[in-house]
Amino acid sequence: KLNVPDHPTIAYIPGDGVGVDIFFAAQRVFDAAVKIVFDGQNKIEWKKLFAGQEAFEKMGDYLPEKTLQAIDDALVTIKGPLMTPVGEGFRSINVALRQKLDLYACVRPVEYFSGISSPLKNPERVNMTIFRENTEDIYAGIEFASGTKEAQKVISFLSDELKVSQIRFPEHSAIGIKPVSTDGTKRLVRAAFDHAVSTDKKRVTFVHKGNIMKFTEGGFRKWAYEVASEYPTFTALDFQKIKAAQGISAAQQAKAEALEAGKIFVDDVIADNFLQQILIRPEQFEVIATLNLNGDYISDALAAEVGGIGIAPGANINFKTGHAIFEATHGTAPDIAGKNLANPSSLILSGVMMFEYLGWTKVAQVIKSALAQTILEQHLTQDLGGNLSTSEFANALIEKISHV
Ligand code: ATP
Ligand code: MG
Repeated sequence: KLNVPDHPTIAYIPGDGVGVDIFFAAQRVFDAAVKIVFDGQNKIEWKKLFAGQEAFEKMGDYLPEKTLQAIDDALVTIKGPLMTPVGEGFRSINVALRQKLDLYACVRPVEYFSGISSPLKNPERVNMTIFRENTEDIYAGIEFASGTKEAQKVISFLSDELKVSQIRFPEHSAIGIKPVSTDGTKRLVRAAFDHAVSTDKKRVTFVHKGNIMKFTEGGFRKWAYEVASEYPTFTALDFQKIKAAQGISAAQQAKAEALEAGKIFVDDVIADNFLQQILIRPEQFEVIATLNLNGDYISDALAAEVGGIGIAPGANINFKTGHAIFEATHGTAPDIAGKNLANPSSLILSGVMMFEYLGWTKVAQVIKSALAQTILEQHLTQDLGGNLSTSEFANALIEKISHV
């Protein structure tokens, strides 16, 4: 869908802390794979952008307007983690970037590589992609601290105008607002279905707490099922309907026929139960669509099942404008920053997502299979129980890549 030239320009921000260690290691891996696959014909034009600590030192701004403009122009950006200073006017540079470009889908593939130790008995069954809504929910940042004029005003409005009586300590309550919209939900869920269709997935699951939050999380569930009906699907709601009218065996038969015909099975799971299911029977799930906060918990829980944040990739994407930022999902890890110890896999696998997004599928495959092979042979960084440095791990990967 993107028109990719032979020498695409990709914007990059190495990032703060451990970002510098992992970014340049990952970049060497990307360039090596592109060179091998295209036999030296195509290459990436890297365009360095400034954000975070480095931008502040050089330009006096943690997120310069020029950087935002360049990201806007480049469409595709890859970055390391950025440290957000306390009291600089924004809660997080990472979040600010997502908001400015309206990167509404946080995409997190979770896949197990043999050779990594996992708390699960059968970790090889974990293989799913999470689509987390990125712009709404309690993450919108609409919060009022307890005891402030603002909180008091909201509380008075709620009790006087809306006759809400559930605020137990009106004098001492902080208040948070959870906006969840039809449009916000639907664009995210469509992204999940587009992915399911294009990668031939058999099941899409909505994860929510609609049993408790009827209109926000319950709304998400309802609108998500509306989107399902736009795609070749057989849903849990279809199943219920047939069961009510014609009995369970008719419903089971209808489902079997639908799946036989290649339709996607769609259902929903309450978030707490989902967190149990991914421990007990993770193989059930293929594509997950969920709200912002649930997505946060779920992404970290699943990352832990396959080796932790050092290896979990992610992207924030606006599928309408095409803007995408591929990034390591962990923070700046100041404890190991600058020591050449960090695992660059999270960023490298984010790069794999990036090459898939660009349509350079072969490059993505080459990097991913080299990574799988390197891990299988137990060439690992310290976080995964090995003794390789960041650059040694990258060298091992490049060595594998040059032998494909
Ligand atoms: P930030 O404030 O930027 O979020 P943090 O201190 O929360 O930084 P994280 O990067 O979120 O640090 O990670 C927590 C811990 O996980 C780190 O202290 C570090 O030991 C470990 N860690 C994170 N990323 C990596 C990595 N790429 N390789 C190895 N260990 C990592
Ligand atoms: Mg952190």
